[in-house]
Amino acid sequence: METLWAPWRSAYLSEATENEAKNIRTGCVFCEALTNPDDRTRYVIHRGKNAFVILNLYPYNNGHMLVIPNQHAPRLDHLPVETRCELMELINKAQLVLQTVYRPHGINIGNNTGQAAGAGIADHLHFHVLPRWTADANFMTTVANSRVIPESLEISWERIREAWEKIL
Ligand SMILES: [Zn+2]
Repeated sequence: METLWAPWRSAYLSEATENEAKNIRTGCVFCEALTNPDDRTRYVIHRGKNAFVILNLYPYNNGHMLVIPNQHAPRLDHLPVETRCELMELINKAQLVLQTVYRPHGINIGNNTGQAAGAGIADHLHFHVLPRWTADANFMTTVANSRVIPESLEISWERIREAWEKIL
């Protein structure tokens, strides 16, 4: 029998698609986004001192964000304490922004460390922060293993970025 409690399935599925994208590119997509100054085309929400926030290109739901250290490192314990603290502050702000913009019923906050744990981009640590609704594991997800995302990344980026700048 399949386990019904599977909150990280969402992260796993988006990581799987992420991995496909990674395979057709060279280098690290997160490092590339970090060095590219164009926030709009890379869907960068915020650039901090030691970490940054972008939209997931393959969202599970609208508003699915990734909180990423600037340093290309695979594990949390490879990062300085200052960076770890900043990551947690950005995760906190990301969930506040999601509450404001999307008013979800719940929020998934999580990380997959290593490929065996489901990380698509295992070499560069990242945290998922995504809104959830009670009935969002819908028919399409269950039957066709695909999702319907009603809002474009462009619109999500504009809404989230605006809220990010307003919330202190
Ligand atoms: Zn990287």
